[in-house]
Amino acid sequence: MLARLLIGLVVIGAIVMFVRGMRGRATGTAERPAIDARTVRCAHCQVYLPRDEAVEADGRSYCSREHAERARA
Ligand SMILES: [Zn+2]
Repeated sequence: MLARLLIGLVVIGAIVMFVRGMRGRATGTAERPAIDARTVRCAHCQVYLPRDEAVEADGRSYCSREHAERARA
């Protein structure tokens, strides 16, 4: 009886820790816009790269001219 109670508490504790861990990750991703302000995503291959190195075409960002042309085709 007591053993089951302890197991139950351990399981609940594990779930709470897991949920907290997930929330921690969620807030971590929510803080990303600061990085996203400097990085852009290639609309063709979805790779992140610095805004300075990105190729702008049709209002979208690409990692290279090749991908900008491929996306247009
Ligand atoms: Zn690309």
